[in-house]
Amino acid sequence: MIRLNRLIAQLLFLVPKSLVEIFAKQYIAGETLSQALEKTRELNDLKIDVTLDFLGEDPQKKRDCRAAVDVYKKAIKEIHNRNLKSGISLKPSQMGLKINKQFCFDNLHDLIDHARKHMVFVRIDMEDTSLKEDTIDLYLKLKKEFENVGIVMQAYLRSAIADINGMIQAHANIRLCKGAYYWEDRKVAYKDMNIINSSYAYLMEKLLSNNCFTGIATHDEKLLFEAMKLIDKLGVSKEKYEFQMLYGVQEDLRKIIHDHGHSIRVYVPFGKDWFAYSVRRLKENPKMVSYIFTNGIKN
Ligand code: FAD
Repeated sequence: MIRLNRLIAQLLFLVPKSLVEIFAKQYIAGETLSQALEKTRELNDLKIDVTLDFLGEDPQKKRDCRAAVDVYKKAIKEIHNRNLKSGISLKPSQMGLKINKQFCFDNLHDLIDHARKHMVFVRIDMEDTSLKEDTIDLYLKLKKEFENVGIVMQAYLRSAIADINGMIQAHANIRLCKGAYYWEDRKVAYKDMNIINSSYAYLMEKLLSNNCFTGIATHDEKLLFEAMKLIDKLGVSKEKYEFQMLYGVQEDLRKIIHDHGHSIRVYVPFGKDWFAYSVRRLKENPKMVSYIFTNGIKN
């Protein structure tokens, strides 16, 4: 499965960008903050919360990281002024983690402080394993000072059980996902989807039964039903969990969960730098496979 994902991703890099863009659009709110804020309002009107993600990974220059901080600050202010139900999600690399850890910490600190003043929650996304230890370290430091910050754990990692035990002890606020960085080595990540799903179910039970706030971030029907069963069985209170999905994915399922009375949050990406994010999404979309093989490959 992972090998197939890798192949699909490689093929996507051969497809003309303009073609990928046609399919990518379903996953992105737009290129501008105002488009993202409009989508947020539409989702809020459906009683769905949002987390806004300004697209951009791995900037090479400090000034690009600072520019991203500025966009997020503007987003936070608008969320507050427009009374929107939205947090923000950001990538440590976008805040400069690959450039310098202290520089990244300072950017995160600045942003989370700004968000706290505007009563906005900040979720630090998890990227590939080369950044995992530093991301956890930064999160734990920031958590000592701020309550409005959470992190992400990835069920495909072999280290996930140990990491989650640490997070439970720290009373962390967690988003649990399967993990999107399909090129991870088998030494660090499970490659079999059945194992990843078992890991997800195990970690989800651990988090929910240990009173950790859990963002159940998956579109996997089986896991979603397991989650609902678990929530009933453990009597988990509404303040301690929510379901989370990506913009443009499984909207029917989103409605089923919402209609069952569960809180749901949608991850809404925006910005010009949509390619890397969209490639990760497209390779998770089975319909893309046949399309790629019948259309669009260059030469
Ligand atoms: P899958 O087994 O991939 O999919 C389950 C079902 O949903 C299948 O039927 C599948 O076809 C369908 N589906 C899934 N994705 C798509 C799609 N793009 N288009 C159409 N159908 C689809 N990963 C990280 O590594 N770090 C993060 O910080 C992170 N944050 C996330 C935040 C949120 C809110 C969510 C929902 C996911 C996040 N992810 C993150 C991505 C996650 O790790 C997975 O790569 C992604 O969610 C797909 O996994 P799945 O759990 O939906 O299961």
